[in-house]
Amino acid sequence: MPGFELFGEKEKAQVNDVLDSGVLMRYGFDSLRQGHWKALELESLLAKRMQVKYAQLTSSGTAALTVAMASAGVGAGDEVILPTFTFVASFEAVLALGAIPILVDVDDTLTLDPSAVAAAITERTKVIMPVHMCGSMADLRALKLLCHTHNLLLIEDACQAIGGTYEGKPLGSYGDLGCFSFDYVKTVTCGEGGAIITNNERYKINADQYSDHGHDHKGSDRGAETHPFLGYNFRISELHAAVGVAQLKRLDDFLSLQKKHYSILRQTLEHVPEVTFRRVPKGGVESYAFLSFFLSSQELAKKVHATLVSEGVDACFYWFDNNWHYYRKWQHLLEQSSLGPLPNEVKKGLPQYTSTQFYKSDQWVGRTISCLIKLGWSEDEVSQRARKMADIVRSCL
Ligand SMILES: *Cc1c(COP(=O)(O)O)cnc(C)c1O
Repeated sequence: MPGFELFGEKEKAQVNDVLDSGVLMRYGFDSLRQGHWKALELESLLAKRMQVKYAQLTSSGTAALTVAMASAGVGAGDEVILPTFTFVASFEAVLALGAIPILVDVDDTLTLDPSAVAAAITERTKVIMPVHMCGSMADLRALKLLCHTHNLLLIEDACQAIGGTYEGKPLGSYGDLGCFSFDYVKTVTCGEGGAIITNNERYKINADQYSDHGHDHKGSDRGAETHPFLGYNFRISELHAAVGVAQLKRLDDFLSLQKKHYSILRQTLEHVPEVTFRRVPKGGVESYAFLSFFLSSQELAKKVHATLVSEGVDACFYWFDNNWHYYRKWQHLLEQSSLGPLPNEVKKGLPQYTSTQFYKSDQWVGRTISCLIKLGWSEDEVSQRARKMADIVRSCL
């Protein structure tokens, strides 16, 4: 997955353009910048690649989630439904707006279980936020139908699945808004950065203004601009955007490498008894950022993972025991540990997570092992790795 594995001359040339002009900020300084508008260029490349009308860059993927929800009017006390298996950024963004993260189960897709989502909808629900974890997607058709029936927003967290598709549409473009991260370990990286995509002009305008202190971006005197509503600073810098311009142009090359390496691993592991693979919803095509598979029991998955680690097979994750990606270890959320007081809406609205069990999620995530697909592997390395993994699983049976 990480695009940094293949940094090269193209990224350097883009960054040097910015350094040569000396304008490191995306707004203003028109006469100094020698025609370099890297953030604007990346927004236009991204919108085109993702087949949407608008893209808005942000300082991170977490910022993208925050800005996406803020742009669509999500605020204090609104409930946002999201999965138990995600990165902490998902609920952080919700809490940052004073909204309430409602965790629900995942199924064998390792993403939102539509029946668990349906059961969690209340009159305070505003958003369903599927997270396309580890390169594959939620059942977006079922979730969109729920949104339609209950008048909710569908906001896709596609941070780990850039380049995947669903019913022919790029992930992130199926819902009302989609979010990407360009942090250092993502398929496309800027070092730090993120983006929102949408076809809704109002959301785009709101995102553009909200992410820059509410600036209306009218005219050419920044100081004279007005501020139609309260905003914040979630801007990306030109230096970061420049790296992104070079990286996004390489996305399709990255995806074909991921697919090649994924396929070699999968074709070898397919023959191992007790190994089954995560379900990809009908109509979906993965980004192949990870290969995720199930063992027949939690004990076996733990044992296989421990053996992979001890035998030096890196980049394999057992999410069930992971501090950052699964609800069991989110003590700070479960126990509401914050530096200052939380908003009353949040205190009142957060479910009693310390006493909530997510059996269905445990049942799937407890049996899952995910292998990061690296871009920098040679074909020989992948084949050797595949054989070693298969041998290790067999030795644990
Ligand atoms: C990386 C990631 C984010 C946050 O992105 P940052 O750019 O690191 O803030 C959000 N959601 C998911 C699923 C991620 O993997």
